[in-house]
Amino acid sequence: MHIAVLKDAAGAEARVAATPDTVKAYVADGHVVNVVKGAGKASDFADALYKEAGASLSASNTAAVKSADLVMSVTGGTVKLLAAMKKGAAITGLLSPTDHPNYVQAAAKAGVTAIALEWIPRISRAQSMDVLSSQSNLAGYRSVVEGAGIYGRALPMMMTAAGTIAPAKIFIMGVGVAGLQAIATARRLGAVTTATDVRPATKEQVASLGAKFIAVENDEFKAAETAGGYAKQMSAEYQALQAELTASHIAKQDIVITTALIPGRDAPVLVTKAMLDTMKPGSVLVDLAVERGGNVEGSKPGEIVTTKNGVQIVGHLNWPSRMASDASNMFARNLKAFLPLVTAEDGSFVPDWDDEIVQGSALTRDGAVVNERLKVK
Ligand code: NAD
Repeated sequence: MHIAVLKDAAGAEARVAATPDTVKAYVADGHVVNVVKGAGKASDFADALYKEAGASLSASNTAAVKSADLVMSVTGGTVKLLAAMKKGAAITGLLSPTDHPNYVQAAAKAGVTAIALEWIPRISRAQSMDVLSSQSNLAGYRSVVEGAGIYGRALPMMMTAAGTIAPAKIFIMGVGVAGLQAIATARRLGAVTTATDVRPATKEQVASLGAKFIAVENDEFKAAETAGGYAKQMSAEYQALQAELTASHIAKQDIVITTALIPGRDAPVLVTKAMLDTMKPGSVLVDLAVERGGNVEGSKPGEIVTTKNGVQIVGHLNWPSRMASDASNMFARNLKAFLPLVTAEDGSFVPDWDDEIVQGSALTRDGAVVNERLKVK
């Protein structure tokens, strides 16, 4: 098949969907690969490396997609680009289908199969394709490292001739993939680490990383995990108890990382203005949920907000793009693991429409929106 690798939106997205390594493997499998000039630059992959790997270079996204059967992107490119693609071709990326209904409609209209990689079902067989996990893992790591960089003090305990520095206290709220990596990173840096979540399964995971688990462990907590492994929306009563517990704990923390999300809803507010007021000047909050409304009251997308009492709230967007080289490597490997599901034995592009991974992630087919999650109920 013909594969095109896009240059994603300049500035906003530093990642690339294929690396020289994955391109080399595609070429070895007999595919023809076209990479847009500069596609890998922000991830430190020069055009020359793609050429060495066997790709040819295209001057623009539009030129690259014209003959492509499969277009690989991180964010899906523009609606206009869909119209430049061949009918029956496909485009993969993080497409945010529910946030971008126009894009989905445009893909259907263009006869293009749009494949949302973030909707790949999180079943064991798809673990190697799980872009949400590979990218969240890096985001969790980076949140602690950047939080530590902004925090004006040391993290580990230091006993020196000039006196002792007490270890910093880091609190992780939300222990999914990002939260677990944040805990591991905070521990490696020597901080006294605590964590909370509403899913009981996380208690053991937190303990296994050497951190202390803190949560309201009532009957509602015991039933807070959905069959899919995600958190349920908690009741107002539970949230009040959780807020009480958080309020007393948070006042003693130096760095707080929040990662709490509930599928299909706004992020729950876990840190209120009143709680922020009790925190020490110089303490730092990193709100990884800021794109979904935020876990911290007053956090702003893309900004670092300083409160009246000198607490900094970090609202950076697109954390994986801040470590684009590693993030691209992981993303590209996830995509490479997905490729066999849309490849026939002769190497041509043929999605296996009976496969639940294809069904879960493909949004459109032959001019229609086909994904169950997008069908009006
Ligand atoms: P996520 O990004 O949806 O949410 C992050 C965390 O926030 C979750 O742990 C959630 O329980 C927590 N949270 C929600 N509301 C909260 C609240 N009010 N207070 C505190 N915490 C709250 O989660 P994720 O990283 O996508 O992981 C979700 C689940 O999927 C986990 O069980 C994870 O182990 C599982 N998973 C499975 C696979 C697989 O089997 N292939 C792969 C990756 C993740």
